[in-house]
Amino acid sequence: MFTLITLPFAPDALQPVISADTIAFHHGKHLQTYVNNLNATLPGSGFEDLPLEEIVKKAEGGIFNNAGQILNHNLYFQALRAPQADNRPTGKIAQAIEAQFGSFEAFQKEFTQKGTTLFGSGWVWLSADAEGKLVITQEQNAQNPVTRGLRPLLTFDVWEHAYYVDYQNRRADHLAAIWQLINWEVVNQRL
Ligand code: MN
Repeated sequence: MFTLITLPFAPDALQPVISADTIAFHHGKHLQTYVNNLNATLPGSGFEDLPLEEIVKKAEGGIFNNAGQILNHNLYFQALRAPQADNRPTGKIAQAIEAQFGSFEAFQKEFTQKGTTLFGSGWVWLSADAEGKLVITQEQNAQNPVTRGLRPLLTFDVWEHAYYVDYQNRRADHLAAIWQLINWEVVNQRL
């Protein structure tokens, strides 16, 4: 059985970038529903004893969708913290981004652009491949880069439920603001 993660911040801590209302729905309703649905469909599936990431790599259909969305949201929420005005990567992720993309600004531009242009619902990801090279991917719906053999480092949720209460249809404005919330120490731990 899987449980809803406890957020590493108070529900109103991400304001004004993400409201307490959005957190209440996103974490308390949407993510809780994925957890409930996965727990309801796991018995008898053969996946009962697997860790979440293994279920995402092996399952299909409803089990994949719910497990994928739990993994995606856990990685998303756990890397957020209260807004910081000049929030930039630190440590080895800062060096890796500079080496791979030329500058943080160039990386940020490409990542934001891939999030803005993803059609429909999904996620934009920064991951590391087997050689440690950084890659940005767009993933539809519940997809996660682990299914491509990548190690996920950072993600922005571009499902409308992630921003519609606060930004309505202005996904680009939401993505421009969310950089203030990224906890780069957590991203470093994943690298
Ligand atoms: Mn979401």
